[in-house]
Amino acid sequence: MKELLLIPGPTPVDESVLKAMSQDVISHTSVEFANLVKETLVYIKQLFGAANGFPFVITGSGTLGMEMALTNILGEKDNLLVLSHGYFGDRFVDIAKQLGIDVDTIKGATGEHVDLDVLKNTLKSKHYTAVTLTHVDTSTGVLADVESVSKILQEISPDTLFIVDGVCATGAVKEEFDNWKLDVIFTGSQKALATPPGLTILAFSSRAIEKRKAISPRTYYGDILRWMPVMEDATKYFATPSVNLFFALHKSLQNIFDFGLENYFKKHEEMAKSVRNAFKEMGLPLVAKRPAPTLSVFLYPEGIDDKAFRGKLKEKGVVVANTLAELYGKGFRIGHMGSVTKDELIVALYKIVETFEELGYKCDKGKVFEAFLS
Ligand code: PMP
Repeated sequence: MKELLLIPGPTPVDESVLKAMSQDVISHTSVEFANLVKETLVYIKQLFGAANGFPFVITGSGTLGMEMALTNILGEKDNLLVLSHGYFGDRFVDIAKQLGIDVDTIKGATGEHVDLDVLKNTLKSKHYTAVTLTHVDTSTGVLADVESVSKILQEISPDTLFIVDGVCATGAVKEEFDNWKLDVIFTGSQKALATPPGLTILAFSSRAIEKRKAISPRTYYGDILRWMPVMEDATKYFATPSVNLFFALHKSLQNIFDFGLENYFKKHEEMAKSVRNAFKEMGLPLVAKRPAPTLSVFLYPEGIDDKAFRGKLKEKGVVVANTLAELYGKGFRIGHMGSVTKDELIVALYKIVETFEELGYKCDKGKVFEAFLS
């Protein structure tokens, strides 16, 4: 039985992408490979809304993107403000501390957006070199209001560099790097881009690149200045790119753009709405007050044991994820992004309802499916 992978990344990968990935390896400095890189980067710029951004695709997971964002723009004397909606926002604090960067945090209460008045007051009382915001925090499912944060930064502290983690958002939600005046954005290959894990994809603004030139970066492999010549012309060498992951990413982006990026956003909105309507009907509370289109985080009703639920569900061929940090054991996370379809979600819903019933939680099946389809 083929498992239905509904964790919030890695997500299922289409046959066409797996096939592209299994092609023969070619030289990483060949003209053929350089052309493929060029085409991929054109897609990336569109994905981020970054006509003016400089795009990168680097071998490494999303955490490398987080680290590159900080190491390339924060020097010895710089400081950072982290806006956190959960576990992945907090990871920026960890990385900053590891690198010896002076860091402050504003945290939203679980499931709630960071208070924008608190942000305004914080920016008025202290100057920050950079601010980070996680577009979708995969631990709580909160969708950040990047545009409003951008407006506040423009108004109060326009020289502060703005870093956005798009790992659980890019491709599924509109991102406007240029219009929102972002300085760094990055994502991972394994979420809405429906590509196997292993690539981080970034864009830097020209002022972020200027900032990199002005500091001595605490990274070698992740130094954007070493990668820029390769991204401009991949017949040049710095470190060997993952040729076959590039094949996969290129194919998946081609599929997404053939489908239409706006249609892809709409598909995510619709899947999220159906899932939430169904679980609302089942009586399961959603953690996020401002929920993302890529995943939903639900709390269990009284009496449902996390391990028993996810274990039984896996036996039926559906894999969902546990909740993280302070929510651990209290609920589950279901991804509805990438190549996942509404038909697959209906199958999963059927099995979830069945599992809940086996564990003693009853609901009106007819109404749940009606809610899903409404
Ligand atoms: N940011 C967010 C929002 C994420 O969801 C994740 C991974 N789930 C990361 C960063 C880290 O990415 P990776 O696990 O690929 O290193």
